[in-house]
Amino acid sequence: MTQMITSWHSGQRKAYCVECADSLPEVQAELEKAEDEDLLEISNQPEDAQGEECTACHRQISQVRDEPHSYRMKVTITFECEIDVEAASCVEAQSFVRETLSTIHLEESKEALQTELEENVTMAETARIKDCFYEVGPAKRVPPDQDADLS
Ligand SMILES: [Zn+2]
Repeated sequence: MTQMITSWHSGQRKAYCVECADSLPEVQAELEKAEDEDLLEISNQPEDAQGEECTACHRQISQVRDEPHSYRMKVTITFECEIDVEAASCVEAQSFVRETLSTIHLEESKEALQTELEENVTMAETARIKDCFYEVGPAKRVPPDQDADLS
């Protein structure tokens, strides 16, 4: 397998071999920017690399051996939830929700998400949900016309 990574970051076409893409910090930084801007192309077609020279090491990209490795990255997925509670004051509403969150079980949700990631992220080997964070924002009074209980 020969992989060629091409960046069009800052309007210049630059091709890289996998060794440089994985080991040189300046190449990694460039490829990350190109990926953010959607100016990155990854080709695993040997014919695409034919006659292409790596911008960093000047070797023929078709001569660079590559093998698949395992790569690990940290992913943070945020769910933003809205909860309405009945209380006599903002502070009571917040402290009620905060206390309740520490007692409910999110284990099943964690397992479901883990399965979802493992089954659907292309090329995923394993996924582990390491931690679950939550943050309770300030409570605000719900206007009477939006109050589900009183309608
Ligand atoms: Zn190279």
